[in-house]
Amino acid sequence: MSSFATLAVHAGLVPDPSTGALVTPLFQTATYVQEAVGLDKGFTYTRSGNPTVAALERHLGGLEGAPPAAAFSSGMAAITTLLLALCEAGDHVVCADAVYGGTVRLLREVLGRYGVSATFVAPTDPDAVARAIGPHTKVVFVETPANPTLVLTDLAAVAVRCRDRGVPLVVDNTLLTAALQRPLDLGATATVYSTTKFVEGHNATIGGAIVTRDVDLLERVRAAGNAIGCTQSPFDAWLTIRGSTTLHLRMEAHSRNALQVARFLESHPAVVHVRHPDLPSFPQRELALRQQRSGGGVVAFELAGGVEDGKRLMASLRLCSLAVSLGAVETLVTHPASMTHAEVPLALRHAAGITDGLVRLSVGLEDPADIVADLEQALGRLS
Ligand code: PLP
Repeated sequence: MSSFATLAVHAGLVPDPSTGALVTPLFQTATYVQEAVGLDKGFTYTRSGNPTVAALERHLGGLEGAPPAAAFSSGMAAITTLLLALCEAGDHVVCADAVYGGTVRLLREVLGRYGVSATFVAPTDPDAVARAIGPHTKVVFVETPANPTLVLTDLAAVAVRCRDRGVPLVVDNTLLTAALQRPLDLGATATVYSTTKFVEGHNATIGGAIVTRDVDLLERVRAAGNAIGCTQSPFDAWLTIRGSTTLHLRMEAHSRNALQVARFLESHPAVVHVRHPDLPSFPQRELALRQQRSGGGVVAFELAGGVEDGKRLMASLRLCSLAVSLGAVETLVTHPASMTHAEVPLALRHAAGITDGLVRLSVGLEDPADIVADLEQALGRLS
């Protein structure tokens, strides 16, 4: 079963042995009756393990040729658990400067208080990433494409440098998913996901996952997740499985629609520049062609009229919704500087290319002509 489409429909999912139900049942239970002391059926308490969550874990691992993943209650829960499993007080993290704002906040405001320091580097230069690795560095963390700038990291080049230094490379693969990019095959130690986004894909759940072929690391993150208590809930796991079985089709359609919208934006006089990895003008186009199957569903653009025009644009959109999050069937528009990345210090935000006028569009699965028409009418209202 090597085709990704077949994996998306079947990986890790088997008919329920007790009933024959084809679709993984929702085991909405907190606890499990044991036949005798010490004699359980593999599950004792849902924080520690649940059959529906286990099916999601088999499924997500199977998508990347890995053992069952570890599923969490959010993407941030997955990232937190991974960093806590890898680091202790006195340790150091090298993090790309272009990552989701919540990851920056976690490193700066939470882990920093517990003695784990972080250095933020431009991920576009693999040697700069390598130079930031010190004797206490326990993880290099990158996100590619980065939310919201879409800056890419050359994963093979960074992975080689991390391997040389004996430091695990963790890749936040939320924006492309395993359907469009395979970091583990390029040398990464682990991928992390906000399954809230494209994996579940319908704006109905919050979830996260860690996928790795390193069984020792898997055991450590499972133990940490159980101790912290941030594992995934059965219902959200059930919905995430349901969403993920169409991941291949949705990712292709998101990419196609996003490119059509990006082409329109690039042709509009009110727009200064547009970023999408499938545009010929994308600065890292050659890397995108080498590393990812297509550009994904997120487009970033800057308006000539800066922040004020951005606010006016967002107020005029009718089909596209002003909301945080990305990666689902509905088109969402976000102003990163005031929404998703508001807590990232200004200097770091600007160093990462998150300008005040940047608009992020998560292109959904509506007819792209309708998304373009909505943008056209809203752009037409700008001065
Ligand atoms: N990683 C990326 C790239 C994200 O965009 C997000 C959320 O927007 C997260 C991680 C955090 O995920 P969650 O909101 O599920 O905690």
